[in-house]
Amino acid sequence: SSPEQHTDVAIIGAGPVGLFAIFECGMLRMKCHVVDALDMVGGQCAALYPEKPIYDIPGYPSIDAADLIDRLSEQCASFNPVFHLGQQVVGLTRTADDRWLVETSTGTRINAAAVIVAAGVGAFGPNRPPLDGLEQFEGKSIHYLVRRRLDYAGKRVVIAGGGDSAVDWAISLAEVAAKIMVVHRRPKFRAAPESVARMDQLTKEGRIEMVVPYQLSGLEGSDGQLTGVRVATLDGEEKVLDADVLLPFFGLSMNLGPIAEWGLELERHHIKIEQSTCATSAPGIFAIGDIATYPGKLKLILTGFAEAASAAHSAFPLVHPGEVLHFEYSTTKGMPAGV
Ligand code: FAD
Repeated sequence: SSPEQHTDVAIIGAGPVGLFAIFECGMLRMKCHVVDALDMVGGQCAALYPEKPIYDIPGYPSIDAADLIDRLSEQCASFNPVFHLGQQVVGLTRTADDRWLVETSTGTRINAAAVIVAAGVGAFGPNRPPLDGLEQFEGKSIHYLVRRRLDYAGKRVVIAGGGDSAVDWAISLAEVAAKIMVVHRRPKFRAAPESVARMDQLTKEGRIEMVVPYQLSGLEGSDGQLTGVRVATLDGEEKVLDADVLLPFFGLSMNLGPIAEWGLELERHHIKIEQSTCATSAPGIFAIGDIATYPGKLKLILTGFAEAASAAHSAFPLVHPGEVLHFEYSTTKGMPAGV
């Protein structure tokens, strides 16, 4: 196996929260190695909704998810993090000298004083609708994420689902698509009230067509190209929506993957932490962002940012034993040269 690389902190997951943890660790003179299963940084923001605006990042009235990731990358770059992308962390074991050994699917071995798990929802993938012949259309005319809005210009788009993604994309794509049809099995949507109101308004204006209460029942088309999407009521009454594209937004499947086998105390597919320190049940392992849970947890990027600061402070004594941590603001000491 490859030689061990030594570092202060190993961060598992390079989503928005993992990226900000690099910065927070850097401020406290802790070097980081960062591993992500995806071949790019940015987690859900980059993989699932790069062009969707985010409205609840402090200081940015609106910022596209991809831009937020660019800013976070820029913010942590001067601390020279070492990225190991396209590899999943498969092993996490305690060393004889009370450090941790992180091992990846491609054989990278990272020996660290502390580990910060920022693994989001784990190995994530979309929930796929159980429809005959689905595979032949996937990646061609059925997509689980929108990479570029303009790909939908002039298209007849069926959006299925009742959560934030379905509602947000219906609103956003209504600006470019020829037609937007929203299929949901009940009239009520589980999405931000503001967004639902906006969708209702666009429906009144005739720019979105509501197909409720219906669910997907079949696909029509050939050679990967959809021509229609069959929908049915619970009583089995069917109709066909003429369409070029189907975007099913049925959420992400939560698959913790190897994380479930590391002996950390879990609660319903999340890692339990002590909120004030972000400590998990294992000494020297901290968890932050979507993967971490405690009573009252809000799964938001901004919550994860604050947790990143807490985890870095908690990890400090493991990396710099015996040193007193003088808390200072980022305007004073600790800023990287040139900032
Ligand atoms: P993630 O972004 O999930 O990143 C975790 C990373 O860890 C992934 O890249 C994954 O590949 C990696 N990973 C997991 N397991 C392993 C492993 N074993 N080895 C290596 N790597 C691993 N939040 C907001 O605050 N505002 C919004 O407006 C907003 N809109 C959203 C819209 C949509 C459509 C979605 C899906 C989410 C939205 N969210 C929003 C939620 C937000 O994206 C998440 O809270 C945020 O991405 C969590 O960041 P994270 O870094 O904790 O995890």
